[in-house]
Amino acid sequence: MNPYLASLPANYLFPEIASRIGNRQVLNLGIGDTTRPLPACIAERMAECALGLGTERGYQGYGSPFGNDELRAAIASVIYNDALVPDEIFISDGAKGDLARLMHLFAPRSKLAIQNPAYPAYVDAATIAGHQLSNSYDECDGILLCSPNNPTGVALTHDEFAQALSIGCPVINDAAYAAYISSDAPRTIFAVDGARDLAIEVGSFSKLAGFTGVRLGWTAIARENPLYAGWKRILATLFNGASIISQAGGLAALEPEGWAEVQKIIAIYKENARILAGRETDAPYLWLEFPGRSSWDVFDEFLELGIAVTPGVGFGSAGEGFIRLSAFGPRADVEQAALQLRKVCQAPSR
Ligand code: PLP
Repeated sequence: MNPYLASLPANYLFPEIASRIGNRQVLNLGIGDTTRPLPACIAERMAECALGLGTERGYQGYGSPFGNDELRAAIASVIYNDALVPDEIFISDGAKGDLARLMHLFAPRSKLAIQNPAYPAYVDAATIAGHQLSNSYDECDGILLCSPNNPTGVALTHDEFAQALSIGCPVINDAAYAAYISSDAPRTIFAVDGARDLAIEVGSFSKLAGFTGVRLGWTAIARENPLYAGWKRILATLFNGASIISQAGGLAALEPEGWAEVQKIIAIYKENARILAGRETDAPYLWLEFPGRSSWDVFDEFLELGIAVTPGVGFGSAGEGFIRLSAFGPRADVEQAALQLRKVCQAPSR
C-alpha cells in the first residue's frame, strides 16, 4: 500500500461528521450541500441530451476528454469575460477530481504551500500523491489557494493574489465559491497580472448552479503556462471527459434563461448566509471562533441543540477553536439555527 495513503487518518472529515450525527434529526448546516432543485430549463436540457434528441442516431458516445466545445466557449465568455479562450478551459466532473489530478503536475515530493485552515481534500490529495505541505511560501514548488476560502469565507484581495504570483511557482486557485463574493475582491485569479504564466484555476458548477450531485466543473489554464501541455496529457490519460448529460445542463445554466435562474438560487443562499452572519459575506459559510474551546466540544454542544456544524479543526490546526456553519439549507432551518446561534454566541455579527 502507498505509505502516504496509509499515513492519513482513517476517515475523511465529512463521513466522520456523518457518523457522529448518526440517526439524529438535526438542522444540517454541516457538510455544505446545496438543497434547491435544478431549474426546469436546465433539467430539461439534460433530459433531451440523455434521450439523444437532435442527434442523428439518437445516441452519443464518448465526448472529448477536454469537454464540449460549446461549454468551453460559454465558460470563457460568461465566467471569464473572454479573458481566456475556449481552448484554455478544460471541463471536469467537478473540482474535487481535478484537484487530485492536478497533484500529478508536480514533481515527486514537491513542497506545496497551503492555507491553514483549508478544504481538507487538498491536504489529503497532496499527501496521497507524496507531496509535502507547508503554510509558508518559503522555497515552495507550488501554491494552493482557495478564494473565497472554505472554511473561513475570506476572499483574497488583488494584492494577495499578486503576492502569491510573485513567488514565481505555479499557483492553483480553487474558485468553487467565486459566485458568492459580495465585496470587490477578484472573482478569478486571472484578473491579476502574471496569472496567465503561472495560474491554474479550478471552478465548479456545484455551488454555482446546484450541481453537487450532477457533477460538473472546469479547470482554466492559459496557453502561456508551461504546464498547459502537461495538463492536457494528464486529462487525456486519467480522465475520459465529463458526462455529456451534465455538460448539456452546464451549457443551459450559462445561457440567459438558465443564468437568470441560477442567480436567483445563489441569491437565496447568500441571503441565508446574511441571516446567519448578520452581515453581507463573500461565501456561503460562517466561521465562528469559540476561544479556548475545542472544535469537537463545540460541535457536540451544537449537536445537543439539534444543529450539525463542522468542527474547525477538521480544516487544519489553525481551525481549532472554530466551527463552520453552512448557508446551504432550507430557509426555515437557517432561521431556526440563527436564533439558536444568537443565544449561544450573544454576538450575532462576529
Ligand atoms: N473545492 C472546495 C473549496 C469545496 O468546498 C468543494 C466542495 O465542498 C469542492 C472543491 C468540491 O467541489 P465539486 O463538487 O465540484 O467536486
